[in-house]
Amino acid sequence: MTTSVSDISRKQSAELFEKAKQYFPGGVNSPVRAFKSVYGTPLFIERGDQAHLWDADGNEFIDFCCSWGPLILGHNNAEIREAVQEQLGKGLSFGAPTKLENDLAELILTHNKKIEKIRFVSSGTEAVMSAIRLARGYTKRDKIVKFEGCYHGHSDSLLVKAGSGLVTFGETSSAGVPKAFADETIVIALNDKQALEQVFVDFKDQIAAVIIEGVPANNGLLIQDKDYIHFLRDITKANGALMIFDEVITGFRLGFEGAAKYYDIQPDILTYGKIIGGGMPVGAYGASKELMACISPDGSVYQAGTLSGNPVAMAAGIAALSILARPGFYEQLEKTTQAFVDELRAHIAEKGYGVRIFTIGSIFWFAFSNENIQRADQIDPASMENYKKMHRELLNRGVYFGPSGYEVGFISAAHTEADLTKSLAVIKEALDIVF
Ligand code: PLP
Repeated sequence: MTTSVSDISRKQSAELFEKAKQYFPGGVNSPVRAFKSVYGTPLFIERGDQAHLWDADGNEFIDFCCSWGPLILGHNNAEIREAVQEQLGKGLSFGAPTKLENDLAELILTHNKKIEKIRFVSSGTEAVMSAIRLARGYTKRDKIVKFEGCYHGHSDSLLVKAGSGLVTFGETSSAGVPKAFADETIVIALNDKQALEQVFVDFKDQIAAVIIEGVPANNGLLIQDKDYIHFLRDITKANGALMIFDEVITGFRLGFEGAAKYYDIQPDILTYGKIIGGGMPVGAYGASKELMACISPDGSVYQAGTLSGNPVAMAAGIAALSILARPGFYEQLEKTTQAFVDELRAHIAEKGYGVRIFTIGSIFWFAFSNENIQRADQIDPASMENYKKMHRELLNRGVYFGPSGYEVGFISAAHTEADLTKSLAVIKEALDIVF
């Protein structure tokens, strides 16, 4: 019988957290990091190398959080590191155009035909916020439709029923968002054609855009039916509304053309973040030449950024995407992930555990349920207790998952066969203890 092992030491992390609480609200600079919904105090990370992390107490982990997705090449990738180091010697920021911006854009636009022009910003939040403004400016309409459970960053109109950070804390919106702003955001359930039809009946000619995550991955992994995504494309087009595909997680994770390729559709505006910066803070949005002509300085939709297209971030992004563009990169990563998930599924089936693993590309999610989950309301909050137990067992055995059961896991190209073999054994043990 599998039994719990003793808890890892968190002495240094706990001390650092006490200090951090004096400086930052809740002791953190982004809420999910606070370990509110898992056991213990947050681990303070000291360094990462390939698929491994070390915390302030010297504990070593195999990392499946990968900085919430950007690190598709793992930590401390030599090519990214060298590109960044070279740029550091030339300058950190100029507030003026650089060739690096052209080079990253060229790399993206050559391999991603879903967009014709791109604008770099500094985060996913900024990318989506700007995409919404573009949609409103272009259509001259105000209302936005979003889906329950989809997270699109923390800008005002998008913090309505928005994903793990909020669900984890038992809230569906945020204080400080004016009602007038929230009123412009209509929230409907995912994978529900009728709800979509109804919203276009109720708000005909008022909807600027419908925004959806490429594959919703912030409130569990809610893989939508292809047929539904095509329905969404058709109904937006028929009603003069734009379709915004938020690919901040899925972009360059499922392939260069992300979820848009997976679903084989052409959204109007696409947003990116995470991977395109190779671990540095970058976001981007892109669309057709016609739509992007609306953006300042040529067009009347204003959007700017002091550090946009930051040269160090561009250098990291170029190095990262150059590796991803190599033949077979995504196929190999997907194959590795599939084998990993298959082995866990076999263990779960053999033991008859009430847990299901959803996966797409190199993303996976453990749902403590036997149902096919495609909407946020199908997740039972009580099932998060199981995740909490599993998370503790995983950490104690050297495997690091995100500190919330609503969050997905990621496999990187740096995860070796040995890493995955060890992790499989650990995850199986953790599941044996949970059940
Ligand atoms: N959109 C999606 C789909 C995301 O997952 C996130 C962040 O997790 C964002 C937007 C916001 O990105 P950022 O945290 O870089 O502001």
